[in-house]
Amino acid sequence: MKTIKHFENSESWLETIVRSFINKSPENSLRNEKNEKAWADPVVGFSSGNDPLYQFYKEDIGAFYWTPLEIFKNTFPWLEVTADQLTVVSWVLPQTEATKSDNREQTFYPSERWARSRIYGEEVNDKLRKHVVKTLLESGREAVAPLLAPHYETKTSKRYDFASTWSERHAAYTSGLGTFGICDGLITPRGKAMRCGSVIAHIKIPPTKRLYKDHHAHCLFFSKGICRKCVQRCPAGAITERGHDKVKCEKHLEITEEYVKSHFGFEGYGCGLCQTGVPCESKIPTQNDIE
Ligand code: SF4
Ligand code: SF4
Repeated sequence: MKTIKHFENSESWLETIVRSFINKSPENSLRNEKNEKAWADPVVGFSSGNDPLYQFYKEDIGAFYWTPLEIFKNTFPWLEVTADQLTVVSWVLPQTEATKSDNREQTFYPSERWARSRIYGEEVNDKLRKHVVKTLLESGREAVAPLLAPHYETKTSKRYDFASTWSERHAAYTSGLGTFGICDGLITPRGKAMRCGSVIAHIKIPPTKRLYKDHHAHCLFFSKGICRKCVQRCPAGAITERGHDKVKCEKHLEITEEYVKSHFGFEGYGCGLCQTGVPCESKIPTQNDIE
């Protein structure tokens, strides 16, 4: 039987695991000539496995959507656990200044750094998911990364078109890391130019406070009726005041595949124009950020 190690402050222990991996590991690479970092210093948040929002997502998105307890029981069917004994560890990986700066200049296709972060950066995110799970297991805490779980699937939601059995952005929202913009991106304290990840662990950690009043609080369009910069930036007309058209967005991403291959020499795609060159790119925007 494994020995469970006790940590005085599990919260800062897990935050250090995530931040050290991204800030110190050579795995954090765009795999370009200069071997530049794919991600800047992460932000980490926590939510309880029995946060009622997880049940709400299941009801809102579709019955296929997992609660933390469901994915945990799928992975460890022999364990007797209750939802309140689980914590969702969620992180935000901000794009680097160099990547954001390149993509700001783009008007249709992604910059090379952005396309690299979409492919190689997401591979780094997968390595981070595995690293966090492994470290927890070694400490005697069962853990699973939903996106790497064998039963993880993409699905079609009646209300939201493309969906999946777990959403990293919804986990981040629940874990106090940000709110949704009109384009569906999550506006975090480091902005919307980021990717996120999560692991569900058999450990109790106090949830991070959600310092917002609703799921759109950080978006200037929803909070003040202004901005719409992401609407103007989208080359596919996929963002309107009614929200984000995932089908149009997906079609545009397909168009970028050929461009990425012929211009940058690897199999990839990307866009992120709605995440760069906008007031919420690197921070929670205020009215003063509108020119
Ligand atoms: S660019 Fe403006 S309208 Fe679009 S998500 Fe950001 S704050 Fe909201
Ligand atoms: S990723 Fe590109 S195509 Fe999709 S909504 Fe954003 S700007 Fe539009």
